[in-house]
Amino acid sequence: MARHLISSVRLFDGDSVSHESAYVEIAEGIIIGITDERPADLRGDLTEISGAGCTLLPGLIDGHVHVYNQARECLGQSLAYGVTTVIDLHNEAPWAEEAKRLARERNDVADILSSFNSATIPRGWPRNVFLSLDSSDEETGEGFNLVPEEELLNTPSMIVQQTLVESAHRHSVLAVAHAMNHSDTHAVLQAGVDAVVHSLMDKPPTTELIAAFKDSGAFVVPTLTVTASNTGAEAESRARFADGLAGLQKENLCACTRYARTSQSIQAGYDQVRALQAAGVDIVCGTDASPGFAGMHIGLSLHHELWLYVHRCGMSPMEALKTTTSVSARRWRLLDRGQIAVGKKADLVLVRGDPTKDIGVTTNIVGVWRNGDRMLHPQYAPLTA
Ligand SMILES: [Zn+2]
Repeated sequence: MARHLISSVRLFDGDSVSHESAYVEIAEGIIIGITDERPADLRGDLTEISGAGCTLLPGLIDGHVHVYNQARECLGQSLAYGVTTVIDLHNEAPWAEEAKRLARERNDVADILSSFNSATIPRGWPRNVFLSLDSSDEETGEGFNLVPEEELLNTPSMIVQQTLVESAHRHSVLAVAHAMNHSDTHAVLQAGVDAVVHSLMDKPPTTELIAAFKDSGAFVVPTLTVTASNTGAEAESRARFADGLAGLQKENLCACTRYARTSQSIQAGYDQVRALQAAGVDIVCGTDASPGFAGMHIGLSLHHELWLYVHRCGMSPMEALKTTTSVSARRWRLLDRGQIAVGKKADLVLVRGDPTKDIGVTTNIVGVWRNGDRMLHPQYAPLTA
């Protein structure tokens, strides 16, 4: 198995810049050494990568994606953008199994954790998502409206929500819920969920809602990039992130769905992230990217999401980086990753420049490692099956 030494590199260890010039040694898929000086006992079978002028980050984690039946493409593309782990929050069981098998067998794709099918009720969310994906003869022809009028979708009763959360906790798994407005968010927090995996679109957060978050101990996965697409916002910043793409991929990222109603706004989400961060509630980075979704590009959208946290929600670049590394790993209970420390998985991203000062450079990716294996052509590499 590969042994690598990344030399003279600035190190963001997941919490802070711990070294301005470090030597990071990896072997057998694990970080085995971090030193200020070049290790003296290096053997011959080691590849050295100069990290001069670069910053080494823990592999990034996307806390909300859907890979559906396109695991090879989604997980390969995620890794190419430095996203070494994705959390798949609703998928068909056979597709999720296949994705997990792929991630176990190969290091040139991102790791995946999946909730498999989400729990719902008759005529409840995500019925409209199923309809949008369904090309069978039973297709009803009903339109795909991500944020439908209340009467179109049923909301589970509090007893159902509480029972689901209790059942999840009995099995020692996290209970996470999709909610995009005040009443739904209050309800799922009251039911005891561990996380809310979208942000508000109806109105800026009330002090009661921020207090409810704080009291519950839940974290939030804002998915501002999907809200931007659904509300038609951020066309300019999206276009900048699409710069390195070409053809249909570029077209797709520059497009947006505009599923939201005109009364809904991304500003509510920006205000929510700002207020929750100020209140000390954990923000965990996630995009809701899925194959072909307009205004999103799996992997790359995570960099846009971080950029929005800094430029729209007032986070420092360092705080933003924590949402996709150490904080994310802690909240998803992935204690083997999210930090650069001896004994942790060698899931790493090397970027040119200093993203702890300028979040805009996170896409300057010069190296990606998963389980200690270096990806050959990260970032804008053409995808191969
Ligand atoms: Zn989703």
